[in-house]
Amino acid sequence: MFHNCVWCDTPMQKVSYLEYVKVYPDTDYHHGTNYLLCQTRDKHPTNPPIRRYECREDLGDRNNPRDTTCDIYYVDRLTGKQVLHYDGADPANTNPAYGGISDEEMFSRRGLDYNAEIDITKSVVPIGPGEAERHVLFKKNKLQREQEEADAKDLMELLGDAASNFDFAEYVYGEKNILEPLLEAKGYTHVTFYMIEQDSFGPLIRGCAAIAPDGKRVRFFYG
Ligand SMILES: [Zn+2]
Repeated sequence: MFHNCVWCDTPMQKVSYLEYVKVYPDTDYHHGTNYLLCQTRDKHPTNPPIRRYECREDLGDRNNPRDTTCDIYYVDRLTGKQVLHYDGADPANTNPAYGGISDEEMFSRRGLDYNAEIDITKSVVPIGPGEAERHVLFKKNKLQREQEEADAKDLMELLGDAASNFDFAEYVYGEKNILEPLLEAKGYTHVTFYMIEQDSFGPLIRGCAAIAPDGKRVRFFYG
């Protein structure tokens, strides 16, 4: 949950469930959840933007082990209609190595804007509490990530000769046992690796995120 209000940047206050449902009547009770409210809600925007397309999943009958349904679909909140539907269990839809593409790309091939927004008051489907706040945070994180990616540096250039025994054919082993220790020796922490680009033969470009010695998150790439 958020500690500071995304609209006014003031600390959120912990309230009881009963106090919370006075503001958000549709809230389901979750035991142990911190119900947080901003004390200056009257200063918040009255119709903030939210995502136009809502992603939902249909996992079928969870009590029936033979039911392997894993349908992903999107609902257009402006019309209440479904705009995209695919089988999330089929690698042909999700895994790039099997020709899968991202949801964003699926939208764009249908002439739809995955990142489209609408005013929260325009939605014809019910919107859960915190949706507009989550959307603000999502956009903030996305911007930060894009900035980090734009600033990403070549990992092999940084590590130089020290990484010369790294073998791309055994990248999983090498990341854990060669690259990560070398980065940690330079003062980087929280080192993680991820796929940027791959084809059916394996990875082409790998990414790396880490916390730099100055406390900022940085990204690298190699390939
Ligand atoms: Zn606030």
